[in-house]
Amino acid sequence: MVDFSGLKNLVVGAGFWGAVIAERLASQLNEKVVVIDKNRHPGGASWSEIDPETGIECHLYGSHIFHTSLERVWDYVSKFTSFTNYRHRVLTTYRDRVYPLPVGLGLINAFYGLNLKPCEVPDFIRRETRGEKGPDDAANLEEKAISLVGRPLYEAFIRGYTKKQWGRDPKDLPAEIISRLPVRTTWNLDYFDAIYQGVPAEGYGKFFERLLSNPRIDFFPGVDFYDIDCKIPEDCTVFFSGAIDRFFDYRYGSLEWRSLCFEFRTEPVSDFQGTSVMNYADEAIPWTRVHEFKHFHPERETKEGVTRLCTEYPSIWRGEKDSPYYPVNDRRNGELFQKYAKAASRLKNVVPGGRLGSYRYCDMDRTVDDALAAFEKHVASRRERF
Ligand code: UDP
Repeated sequence: MVDFSGLKNLVVGAGFWGAVIAERLASQLNEKVVVIDKNRHPGGASWSEIDPETGIECHLYGSHIFHTSLERVWDYVSKFTSFTNYRHRVLTTYRDRVYPLPVGLGLINAFYGLNLKPCEVPDFIRRETRGEKGPDDAANLEEKAISLVGRPLYEAFIRGYTKKQWGRDPKDLPAEIISRLPVRTTWNLDYFDAIYQGVPAEGYGKFFERLLSNPRIDFFPGVDFYDIDCKIPEDCTVFFSGAIDRFFDYRYGSLEWRSLCFEFRTEPVSDFQGTSVMNYADEAIPWTRVHEFKHFHPERETKEGVTRLCTEYPSIWRGEKDSPYYPVNDRRNGELFQKYAKAASRLKNVVPGGRLGSYRYCDMDRTVDDALAAFEKHVASRRERF
């Protein structure tokens, strides 16, 4: 049972944002912290655990690779885990042929049957994008993608995948979404550009266990905030990483999300696809990617002759009963979120954050950085008060 008497800090949600705030409060301010999460585990969507049958560590909510160029974030997370030297590479299947992502010499040359050199790529792309809008004039994702790579590459590798992932035509999506996908003129096949990359050597489970291991932290999994909110003392600060619209009882309306479904299975082969993540670009194939988890840890030994896979299907989000994954950052939702953010800023003892609290698609490193910043702001505002 959670003991709320005299409690000064409650953290709602034990994902990256909440767990980092809790760790800082306990270690730096020596304060007691209660952390609750409605899941049976911490770590939010990054959570991974060992499949008991195969011994393979599986990411329950899609592959999560830690990548950052932020020194303070790398220094901070490295206190709680070492990372393997895994570098993420993604392949994509289009019309039954496999190509390397992101868009670079590997993909362009394989798709067009050419042998372009790096210095020839800009001219080639210029020819491909002639007559199209430039990147700065692009009003939506389709126009932006075409301005960057030309129509044939867009139609093969971006249109179908994006339409499946978002359930909308790319013409109706904001251009910013595509800026996550780099376009290169080299043979570099790394999916991410970040300086530091890897997966926690002992898994995300161990990482979160250590993050929450301070004796001043009490972690209660399986506890829903709305079952206990009436018991929270008035002067307790609530660090809230749940959905911000629900916190305010949807008073301005509901923020929209895109959801995902994951189908796990074991195959009786030692290697199914030869890589950790295979994307599927064709619109007619209903899934967007297949994850094969053993490739995240080639250094580990697992049961022979089997592999564990997960097929990822984007799905409609129908409110609270579905898990929210991607915020639909269009104008309506952006304006709605601003209203909630304003309402939250008027509350004295509530600090919202994290993916759900700030209605933002966040990489893990950004979330850690945001949590460190939120903690510093909290400390500064308390100093002002006393
Ligand atoms: N994308 C695409 N084709 C791909 C992979 C990504 O068009 O094969 C685009 C798509 O619009 C998607 C965005 O890039 O919404 C970001 O994709 P990413 O796979 O990086 O998303 P995440 O892994 O963060 O869910």
